[in-house]
Amino acid sequence: MQTIRDLGDLRGKRVLVRSDLNVPLDDGRITDDGRIRASIPTWQQLLDAGARVIVCAHLGRPKGEPDPQYSLAPVAERIGELLLDVDVSFAADTVGDDARSSAADLPEGELLVLENLRFNPGETSKDDDERGAFADELASLAEAYVSDGFGAVHRKHASVVDVAQRLPHAAGGLVRAEVEVLRRLTDQPARPYAVVLGGSKVSDKLGVIEALLGSADKILVGGGMVFTFLKAQGHEVGKSLLEDDQLDAVRGYLTTARERGVEIVLPTDIVAAEAFAADAAHEVVAADAIGADRIGLDIGPESSSAFAAALADAATVFWNGPMGVFEMEPYSHGTRAVAQAMVDSAAFTVVGGGDSAAAVRTLGFDENAFGHISTGGGASLESLEGSAPTGLAVLSD
Ligand code: ADP
Ligand code: MG
Repeated sequence: MQTIRDLGDLRGKRVLVRSDLNVPLDDGRITDDGRIRASIPTWQQLLDAGARVIVCAHLGRPKGEPDPQYSLAPVAERIGELLLDVDVSFAADTVGDDARSSAADLPEGELLVLENLRFNPGETSKDDDERGAFADELASLAEAYVSDGFGAVHRKHASVVDVAQRLPHAAGGLVRAEVEVLRRLTDQPARPYAVVLGGSKVSDKLGVIEALLGSADKILVGGGMVFTFLKAQGHEVGKSLLEDDQLDAVRGYLTTARERGVEIVLPTDIVAAEAFAADAAHEVVAADAIGADRIGLDIGPESSSAFAAALADAATVFWNGPMGVFEMEPYSHGTRAVAQAMVDSAAFTVVGGGDSAAAVRTLGFDENAFGHISTGGGASLESLEGSAPTGLAVLSD
């Protein structure tokens, strides 16, 4: 994988950087600028090398056309506040007249932020030609490309994959740091290696279990994913999250785990509520006694203790997906217990996933107490599955 140094002398050169600036916004106000701050060192390295830096990114899920609520203008403004010594400008479009003239006139050592990539249908198009045409326009703005948006690196998008094929390219510092951490997880991890899986994107995540059965020593399952396991064991799961079509696959995972000596730790108790609401009546029930009209929204206290105990002797821990609906206080305790166990552990601990990282922050944990908090859940899971994310593979060509 090429690094920024491999791009050679960058003085005066225009460098297009794909960053991950998908920050949470509340009425146009940035509520957490973590991703912007994390992106600064790569831009700074390029600016220090004398480059003209052109930053592109997406925000939210606009539908391939301009939508003011997803404008990157507030992000550009925040970048200007954080990079005090640098002139930061903003183009009102991505590859249109403003972007082209602003990029052409951009002085050395200054930074230009382009408008949201996803205001253009070509960015996310499934059609190679449409994506390619948009990538041609993006590539024409610059003489080199740096991939630094780890959160998007598993997406087959124009700014991630196609542009890299059109310009001299390199991985930025953020992407390199993530790749390094993932290597520590996949290439002879310190043992015991424990993985905690939860969250709500169940079908996305079940696949990673299969790969982990070949590398992890224990897999702890919580969150919305657990009900597919409980159901596979023949238990009632009520109205809880369930992937009916994955039951056979899950039974297969349980068998493989037994054969290979991988310990699968499932909760023994569940917080079952009458409705998906913070103020709904709820109680702790045995995991095999969830009422038909109940929704499981967290692992119970007995399970929290068992999960913490299972993590205590681990040397490596990877965690993706909250144990419950942590956004609502009554269902946040399982997630808190896992986070606390990781903080207390001497293991190399990695948190992957947007919501898992947000949970760590909103529950008041010090991010520095973890070995690494990844900015990209999907990309880290794909790497653990053993397939290099599409946007990383292209950087090695
Ligand atoms: P990540 O972003 O860390 O990869 P996901 O996006 O898969 O995690 O899932 C995060 C979401 O999962 C959270 O918003 C949380 O409320 C939800 N969740 C966790 N447990 C449950 C559950 N038992 N039922 C429904 N949703 C759940
Ligand atoms: Mg998520």
